[in-house]
Amino acid sequence: MSNKLIVVVLDGLRYDVATETLGYMEHLAEKGQALRRAVLSELPSLSRPLYEVLLTGTPSYINGINTNGSIRLSDHKSLFHMTKEAGLTNATASYYWVSELYNRAPFHYLEDRIQLDTDKAIQNGMFYFEDTYPDSHLLIDGETLRQEVQPDFLYIHSMNIDDIGHKHGGRSGEYRDSVLRVDNILAELIPSWLQAGYQVVVTADHGMSEYGQHGGTTEEERKVPLYIISNKTRKGVQEVVLPQLPFASFMCELMQLNKAETMPKLPASWEELLMTGEEEKE
Ligand SMILES: [Zn+2]
Repeated sequence: MSNKLIVVVLDGLRYDVATETLGYMEHLAEKGQALRRAVLSELPSLSRPLYEVLLTGTPSYINGINTNGSIRLSDHKSLFHMTKEAGLTNATASYYWVSELYNRAPFHYLEDRIQLDTDKAIQNGMFYFEDTYPDSHLLIDGETLRQEVQPDFLYIHSMNIDDIGHKHGGRSGEYRDSVLRVDNILAELIPSWLQAGYQVVVTADHGMSEYGQHGGTTEEERKVPLYIISNKTRKGVQEVVLPQLPFASFMCELMQLNKAETMPKLPASWEELLMTGEEEKE
């Protein structure tokens, strides 16, 4: 069974709109090809703090990345560090804040857009710095990295859903349109990723209020989707809400990697997503 993993983070995608709008992803869940759950984001429900949560498994009060203005390298080991330490190849197509957390801060627009340097925590990075950089291009940036460097861990992070949510609100037609567009691209990419032996995870950092905000504690701002396509996990839909902090630990589990010491132990709610040895034999 392959341990290779592609994680797609759709910035600002709230749970209800995801499940109402991601027709292809819901098809996979409905037909027993994917698992779908809800995740409750950590607080504050802001982008940079939650990138750090998703990638290191540490909460803001410990990692100190408390605002979108916390422009500095992370002090904690991320999934990029752990894959690199294990001798694996990692890659990302992400917003430039991800580069600032793990490769270099502040971001140098003229130098840091494409970073191919296996000595860095992120070994193969393509970073965009406009919130309107099209998700279509971003997802293909990720696909290009996959084809070029065959990473064991590929992290793809889009921004248009968040950007349009801020401009039009999380219940707007424009917001739904942006989600539909991503679903179409995923429907083209995911079959070839599975063909190439990857496990695929699709989630979001935080949601979006109907007023076009996030950062607070409402369900609209915190509740996000989680889709997993992997032979290691169960399939189908259950309306349970998982905590977000163990996400990085679970990604280590999917890649059969040691987790960082600062990543939490998997709680029962996450542990039970895994197939048991008996089920795998069936
Ligand atoms: Zn935002």
